[in-house]
Amino acid sequence: ASSFSGRRVALFGLGGSGMATARSLIEGGAQVVCWDDNPESVAKAEDEGLPVGDLRGEDWSRFCSFVLSPGVPLTHPKPHWTVELARAAGVEIIGDVELFVRERNLRAPDAPFFAITGTNGKSTTTALTAHILRSAGRDAQMGGNIGRAVMTLDPPAPSRFYVIECSSYQIDLAPSINPTAGVLLNLTPDHLDRHGTMQRYAAIKEQLVGGSQTAIVGVDDPFCAQIADRLELAGRKVVRISKRLSLTDGYYAEGTDLMEAKDGHYSRIAFLEGIGSLRGQHNAQNALAAVVACLAVGLDLGEIQSGLESFPGLAHRMEQVGRKDNVLFVNDSKATNADASAPALSSFPRIYWIAGGLPKEGGIEPLRGLFPRIARAYLIGEAAPAFSATLGGSVPYEISGTLTAAVEHAAQDAAKDESGEVVVLLSPACASFDQFKNFEVRGDAFRKAVHSIEGITLLGG
Ligand code: ADP
Repeated sequence: ASSFSGRRVALFGLGGSGMATARSLIEGGAQVVCWDDNPESVAKAEDEGLPVGDLRGEDWSRFCSFVLSPGVPLTHPKPHWTVELARAAGVEIIGDVELFVRERNLRAPDAPFFAITGTNGKSTTTALTAHILRSAGRDAQMGGNIGRAVMTLDPPAPSRFYVIECSSYQIDLAPSINPTAGVLLNLTPDHLDRHGTMQRYAAIKEQLVGGSQTAIVGVDDPFCAQIADRLELAGRKVVRISKRLSLTDGYYAEGTDLMEAKDGHYSRIAFLEGIGSLRGQHNAQNALAAVVACLAVGLDLGEIQSGLESFPGLAHRMEQVGRKDNVLFVNDSKATNADASAPALSSFPRIYWIAGGLPKEGGIEPLRGLFPRIARAYLIGEAAPAFSATLGGSVPYEISGTLTAAVEHAAQDAAKDESGEVVVLLSPACASFDQFKNFEVRGDAFRKAVHSIEGITLLGG
């Protein structure tokens, strides 16, 4: 990062992206001292010629910046002592997104830069935006909280587009963030463990759209609606999007149609009809954000529509993995709590539901309103007894135990269903750790079980 030329920078966290960040700083002429509390990482960095040093022993007044690598937590930090030392010495504490922002501002301030945040839908919106740009022939670099760390992307150049997913943590460490278009999808009281209060959490997210040339804000929740009003009052350019309200000025979804409202005129600008990877109202919000972001940088509606239609979707998020006759098989393994399962359950009218795993507080009680859509439930993992108690009386269920048994039984039952299209849905509303390493491994196991069903047609990649 050449904006740090000649400056002394401390860096903590020597995973792959931390090393890439350190290298980029050094190439840009900074004097760097790197550290990690894992001796193996330190040794590896040393082998690669990076300047390492135990930051506790350094004279902090000589540093101008302290860079925390992605994944190093700030408020429950392993390197708590370094954060304290930096603070005490008045050294700025920043992350790799900040480095990227300064680099772009220096080298290619006109390079279109999208930053995307929200409680839910960040990855989908980021991947969709990058996909639309790429399918329209643009050089779109995608990274941040999804895929590659920002400092490993190709360096800023005028015709290069950046689509960066930002967690609250990354925004918090990127005080100069100034995207061409910033997206704030939604805010729900989540992640409060890390940020303390909703006010603080919302304030961090607001920083991203507050610094944007164009702020694209989902106004379906009261927190975001207020942020949109506040930004507008401050004279910022705000574009409102809504998945459920007919706005008079902005963009909204009407069923599967994406609408523009402007100066009393309403027109359909794109549609999601028949696009399996963008099914559901929540995806209308994600698609609206991506469409508006692409419009802001001059793509035309034809390019945008064809990008929407060819979007493959992301694995484990309502991912269509197979079909047999009238039965669709959907992998929503990413849904690790009840709130995260609600969008999938809301998106299908008749569901053979595979759920369970390591239970979260509150169980599936919040999903009760969606129970009428569930033809039968197949319960797995440690949550099975608690879930069966909640379902009891309203939804027929079996305790399948394992995911393989659940897929087999659900497929058999769904095949006998004569009410049109039905879905076998893995949307566990639970963490996976009782039976799987993580939600990805759980989703992969589901996909594999589905693909071994006789006569199945494989869908997706
Ligand atoms: P994130 O990156 O913010 O975690 P993802 O795009 O990975 O979000 O989606 C994760 C899950 O969140 C999806 O499987 C879906 O259940 C839910 N989701 C996605 N988009 C939205 C949205 N716009 N509003 C509410 N929930 C959503």
